[in-house]
Parts: sequence; structure tokens; C-alpha cells
Amino acid sequence: MGEHTITAEWHEIPADADPASVTGSVSGGAYLVYRCDCGAPLDDRTAAQLHAMEHDKCSACLGSASEQPTPGFRRPCTACAGTGSRGHELVWQAAHAEAEQVITLGLVRRVTRGLPETFSLSQAADEVRALLAVPAGRLPVGPRVRDLLLRLEKDGEIILASAPDELLHGTDVVLYRDPLWRRLSG
Ligand SMILES: [Zn+2]
Ligand SMILES: [Zn+2]
Repeated sequence: MGEHTITAEWHEIPADADPASVTGSVSGGAYLVYRCDCGAPLDDRTAAQLHAMEHDKCSACLGSASEQPTPGFRRPCTACAGTGSRGHELVWQAAHAEAEQVITLGLVRRVTRGLPETFSLSQAADEVRALLAVPAGRLPVGPRVRDLLLRLEKDGEIILASAPDELLHGTDVVLYRDPLWRRLSG
């Protein structure tokens, strides 16, 4: 039986492979292969997700609590807040929806105007958290604030002032841990 531990491993695509035969997530020359310790056949990501949900595991990380967006790089799963549980995933989904309701573009714009001209994502998120009196870990404030800052950036109100911390796979995946933005107006 086992614990239904599902593993996803990057496998190199053989140079002579027929591209049509490669299913699942592909990144560069690698693709993901899914396996459960109970031996259930998991042909692709959809099958792996259904199997995970049947056993109360997060459908994003399949219960592993971490995600591997690209070969050789792991981070805590953002869907279930790094717990691997389906229950947490559902609670966190509701929390994401709530964060979208309460953290508006206008609120974030107002907050950035009260910050130094150059400010970090964490400064803006802390300010929003304080303003709404949300305890840390209750709402996904950081991800929501980041999305809205990216919108302000697109609208030309702020510009990104920091270089990425990591470039993975050339420039396919760019990582910013705590990016800095600079205000252009107001
Ligand atoms: Zn299983
Ligand atoms: Zn997860």
C-alpha cells in the first residue's frame, strides 16, 4: 500500500526521441515522469493529480510539499503553503480569493506612495499587512502585492530596480527573492 508518495522526476529526453511521444511537463531537454509508491499507473500529470487528490494530497505538488519548476530547482509549494495537503490547498485557494478581494490596486498604489522612493516587495507587503491587520500566514499577502506591483510596473508608475537573484536554464526562469521597485510619479 504505502503512503501514496508521488514523485516527479525530470528525465532527459533522448536525442533520438519522437517529440510526439514525450508527454507531460517539458523544460529544455527534460520532461517529468510521475510515479506513486503504490504502483498505480500515472501516465501524465493529470493522472498524477487525480491520484493525489483521491488521497487528500495537494493537486499542485502531489503531496511532496515542494515544487520543481525546472530541473534541479525546488521550492516550497505555493498552492498548499508547503504542507502537501489537499485540505490546506483548499483553504489556501479560498485565502487567495479573499486576498484578491481585500487587496486592491488602489490600496497597493496608496501604500507604495508612503514608502521610500525605492522599496522592496517585502516592505510593501508588510505595510499592507499592517494596514489590514492581517497576521502573517493568514492571507497570501506577498503574492497578491507582487501581482499588483507588476501591474503598476506595466502601467509605468514604478520600475523594477533590482537584478534577478537567479537565472535558471539560461533566462527561461528568472527568480527574484525580494525585488526592489522605484516610484516614478506621485
Ligand atoms: Zn498511490
Ligand atoms: Zn502543494
